[in-house]
Amino acid sequence: MKRIALLGATGSIGRQAIEVIDAHSELELVAAASGSQRIDGLAPLTQTGGDLTDLLERARPDVVLNAVVGFAGLSPTMWALEHGVTLALANKESLVAAGELALRAQERGGGELIPVDSEHSALFQCAKLGEPESLVLTASGGPFRGRVPDELQTVTPEQALAHPTWSMGPKVTIDSATLANKGLELIEAHFLFGVSYERIEVVIHPPSIVHGLVRFRDGATIAHLGYPDMRVPISYALTYPDRAATSVPPLELTTLEFHPPDVETFRLLALARDAGERGGTYPCVYNAANEVAVQAFLERRIGFLEIASLVEDVLGSVDGAAARDLDELVEADRRARDLVAVAR
Ligand code: NAD
Ligand code: MG
Repeated sequence: MKRIALLGATGSIGRQAIEVIDAHSELELVAAASGSQRIDGLAPLTQTGGDLTDLLERARPDVVLNAVVGFAGLSPTMWALEHGVTLALANKESLVAAGELALRAQERGGGELIPVDSEHSALFQCAKLGEPESLVLTASGGPFRGRVPDELQTVTPEQALAHPTWSMGPKVTIDSATLANKGLELIEAHFLFGVSYERIEVVIHPPSIVHGLVRFRDGATIAHLGYPDMRVPISYALTYPDRAATSVPPLELTTLEFHPPDVETFRLLALARDAGERGGTYPCVYNAANEVAVQAFLERRIGFLEIASLVEDVLGSVDGAAARDLDELVEADRRARDLVAVAR
């Protein structure tokens, strides 16, 4: 039996995780948490809002599936890593923001960190075959692929929320439309696989069938293919290393196309690469400013292109000094949020 604590149980990943857990008798949901929706009775221990580490202390699970959205996912990520409890990580924002602090906690705790993000799940599986020389992250390109800035000036939240291949929560869907999601994933991949930024490439692959590729020094490139369905990486992470069955149909092969990303139009990808290369708290600041700007866009307080300019402004006005501990990290996140020049 694997005892699972599911954080973010009411979200897109959370609901699909419940489906996966229900389908496997060896997986037991022992604790569940949500941000604001009530979930009484969903698991023996439930919590709405409040301190997520309290719930984890009481539940003492074998696996924490962190499917919270945003920086709010930091404390359960750190708790699991510090305690050597297997972390199935959908909440990329916590790893992006905490970076080295998270890796040091994992070293102390000695537990497994298994990515749930589909691209990183793919890379994790490919990387089992050898020492990666370089990584390729694929991106669908989102609903605005092929557009130029003039055409993006007036796009609405509804248009940005209409993702062509994935059905996901609002924050990650907007991030997919701006390519900030791929920017966050670039930094996530850097920390997960210890590969330097110049050896992580991003390619646009509209059908979202190839989820990631790893190149090896002998000239071999191993790719992971499958339909865009998050139940596959969720199931992989929860049943690791067993690879249990899912109801996802076998892949039918089609033509696969790849293009370079337009980083001039989708500036948040380039800004993430820059923030990642600079290191320190720049990734944390990038994430914080992006979270605030995405919320403002969803509430129609700013336009689509302003998300990138606000993030760029905030990155330009901080020193990015590394956080020595979690308090300093939380402080860097808070300061970055305050710097986003948007009426609340
Ligand atoms: P969502 O918005 O659908 O759900 C978010 C969940 O987090 C909800 O259950 C909400 O109640 C909970 N939550 C929010 N703030 C909280 C807080 N302060 N305390 C406790 N719970 C809180 O989001 P989602 O699309 O399921 O994404 C979750 C995470 O997974 C994000 O980091 C996202 O980037 C990542 N991810 C999602 C997908 C996807 O297909 N949805 C794919 C890859 C990665
Ligand atoms: Mg992803």
